[in-house]
Amino acid sequence: MAGHTVDDLRERTRGDVVTPQDRGYDEARKVYNATADRRPAAVVRCANAGDVMATVNYAREMGLDLAVRGGGHSAPGYGTCDDGVVADLSGLRGVRVDPATRTARAEPGATWGDLNAATHAFGLATTGGIVSTTGIAGLTLGGGFGYLCRTMGLTCDNLLSADVVTADGRFLTADADRNADLFWALRGGGGNFGVVTSFEYRLSPVDQVVAGPMLFELEHMENILKFYREFVQDAPEQLFLFPGFQTAPPLPFIPEDRHGDVLGIVVVCWSGPVEEADRVLRPLRDLAPRVAEAVGPMPYPAINSAFDPLLPPGLREYWKGSFATELTDAAIAAHLEHGPQVPTLSSTMHIYPVNGAPQRVAPEATAYSYREATFSTVILAVWDDPAGDAAQTAWVRDYYAAVAPHSEPGGYINFMGEDDQGRVEDNYRGNYARLAAVKRQYDPGNLFHLNQNIKPAAA
Ligand SMILES: Cc1cc2nc3c(=O)[nH]c(=O)nc-3n(C[C@H](O)[C@H](O)[C@H](O)COP(=O)(O)OP(=O)(O)OC[C@H]3O[C@@H](n4cnc5c(N)ncnc54)[C@H](O)[C@@H]3O)c2cc1C
Repeated sequence: MAGHTVDDLRERTRGDVVTPQDRGYDEARKVYNATADRRPAAVVRCANAGDVMATVNYAREMGLDLAVRGGGHSAPGYGTCDDGVVADLSGLRGVRVDPATRTARAEPGATWGDLNAATHAFGLATTGGIVSTTGIAGLTLGGGFGYLCRTMGLTCDNLLSADVVTADGRFLTADADRNADLFWALRGGGGNFGVVTSFEYRLSPVDQVVAGPMLFELEHMENILKFYREFVQDAPEQLFLFPGFQTAPPLPFIPEDRHGDVLGIVVVCWSGPVEEADRVLRPLRDLAPRVAEAVGPMPYPAINSAFDPLLPPGLREYWKGSFATELTDAAIAAHLEHGPQVPTLSSTMHIYPVNGAPQRVAPEATAYSYREATFSTVILAVWDDPAGDAAQTAWVRDYYAAVAPHSEPGGYINFMGEDDQGRVEDNYRGNYARLAAVKRQYDPGNLFHLNQNIKPAAA
């Protein structure tokens, strides 16, 4: 039994328990998205799985909201809460690589930068996010797209096992043989089922990639989007590329007189043989003259961190996402109308390709169900002044409303805002009933509800 005061909780945990009276509280309660300016009653800086068990027990017994924070990147800021308890895992960042079995075991506060640095030393990697500061935890549990997914599958497809603290404070290992229903639900079901304290991944060989951005005049974006929708169907799976709209940052590879202009962008990452990159990228380069390009050979962790400066912590964010099986002419028209109005340097729209290896997994094999989708679109506004809240969110909402009729009803849970809770069943479709049943088994009281929430099935 956990005690019933914060001091009892302090006695039971190795890590610090930070309350509003403590120095460092304002730092401890922060997550990436500054709109999530919440004031928890306590932030437990968990030092081990035992601290996680104590925190889960305390929150449940006290009837408090429990937020679980890995990398802290959640778009709605689910890694913090008002008046409740935060299980802050961000101090747990260890990664152990076993080159013999090509696996890695990572703690739940590790970022993709941590994981990639550790695995790259062995010439290995697994599918991770586009930027290095995102946490492995939330990204893996939601599915996981990134530069390597067309060839290696989603991040959750590379998850081999997970240690989990469930709502009743038990410590379980979930894999294909042990607690297999929990393991199924963790692969796409988000943070609904427990706190993962260790992730084990399958790794694959990746060393140098040929990667970077190409920037185009807006007038070429119609052709580029039409080219992209066809090209990506048959492009070699080692090629990940995504188009978007981007305000040109003040970087040396971009002509100075174009800094601040809104341009079209295509980011590429070729993880096949370096000498084949020019041939593979030629059709894209032939399509239109580039305003600027910074594509070249680099170690895989370098492309994973190349865009980090565009998305620093502490800015305000609002996100929406959807899946699409086709990029229709009408969808492209909507992108051409709204994309060029991208409001700030860090705001953007990307259309990620999720075909290839992710589609070779059956929709019912993991909780993540949109296996037939070819595209995952994300629209995000990022700004700093609270006075901009209404205008920035309006840009995302209007843009999303324009593409929604040409998209699937569901989207990727990790690209969803707080106001997308009504889409949770759409995100999981045929898998929702099983998820609700697994939720009832492992979290009947819905302790883990600060997420895209799956409600426990009725008894
Ligand atoms: C700048 C940026 C870039 C991104 N790029 C990509 C990308 O390339 N590909 C992609 O797929 N997604 C991407 N995302 C979305 C990302 O996958 C989600 O924001 C994800 O939830 C972040 O995980 P986190 O651990 O950093 O976040 P957190 O805010 O810590 O957690 C997110 C959710 O997971 C839960 N959670 C966290 N840790 C655990 C745990 N150990 N056990 C159980 N539940 C837990 C939390 O409670 C919360 O509900 C990006 C997000 C940002 C902000």
